[in-house]
Amino acid sequence: MNDVIIIGGSFAGLAAALQLGRARRKVTVLDTGLQRNRFATRSHGVLGHDDKPPSAILAEARQQLARYPAIKMVNACADSISGTIDNFSVLTGDGETLSARRVILSYGVVDQMPTVQGFAESWGTSVIPCPYCDGFEVADQHWGLVWSGPQSMNQVRLFHDWTDRLTVFADGHDISPDVRADLARRRVLVADGRITGIARHGDHNATIKLDIGPDVAVDILFALPRNKPSAGLHETLGLTTVATPLSLPNRRASSPSRVTPSRRR
Ligand SMILES: Cc1cc2nc3c(=O)[nH]c(=O)nc-3n(C[C@H](O)[C@H](O)[C@H](O)COP(=O)(O)OP(=O)(O)OC[C@H]3O[C@@H](n4cnc5c(N)ncnc54)[C@H](O)[C@@H]3O)c2cc1C
Repeated sequence: MNDVIIIGGSFAGLAAALQLGRARRKVTVLDTGLQRNRFATRSHGVLGHDDKPPSAILAEARQQLARYPAIKMVNACADSISGTIDNFSVLTGDGETLSARRVILSYGVVDQMPTVQGFAESWGTSVIPCPYCDGFEVADQHWGLVWSGPQSMNQVRLFHDWTDRLTVFADGHDISPDVRADLARRRVLVADGRITGIARHGDHNATIKLDIGPDVAVDILFALPRNKPSAGLHETLGLTTVATPLSLPNRRASSPSRVTPSRRR
């Protein structure tokens, strides 16, 4: 029996495996190789690994873990889980049943791509979620932000650290006159209408197509699509997740065609 089965062997899961391996625990890591940031060409802000491809960081981590004999890495999906503390069983997609005293669920979240044409193809390059991850590389350039409700004002304030050239895409959201006045005071442009398509050019640049207006070119577009856990094993165990402004409602697979969700009340 394993001491621990880790389901999801990316950044979180391998960090857990490292400490457990050092504590000489018997660990099996199950992973399907679909880490959330696999669409990005470089990863930033991870100490000692800045500006490396995410896959290279993980490859190096796996290499380092190889020196711990009690850690076993398995390329397999955890399909189901049963049991309780001190006696968990995990069934893998290969039909193998593994047992463990403890289980770590580190399968992360999956971003739900909206149906907007070109969005999925641009995700991680021309369309990105986080200024800390990729903002430095496009500082002082023309940024776009897909508005997702009043909380987007926080991003507007934050983005001033990187650029003074910002266009907000309303994407069908009502932006109140007060907020528009605040944006105007900050010299932030507002492009009304819904986004109907995104055409990516080169590494970052994109043309944003709108249903009611002319196309708008930006050097990078920030958007926060909804996400959901990558697997449902926690539900089998009776665990619930905490809703965030970006999480998809439970058990709903489809997403709105809007690029980002409206604020949930
Ligand atoms: C476009 C983009 C760019 C980003 N850039 C950065 C950056 O520059 N710097 C930064 O710090 N963060 C960045 N992030 C955030 C980063 O991706 C996450 O913080 C990180 O991936 C979270 O790691 P994790 O281990 O929790 O989950 P993940 O990396 O998503 O890993 C989950 C793992 O679980 C596996 N899995 C899922 N279900 C199962 C199952 N049933 N059985 C077995 N395995 C399973 C998956 O295949 C995957 O390997 C970025 C995110 C995105 C979307």
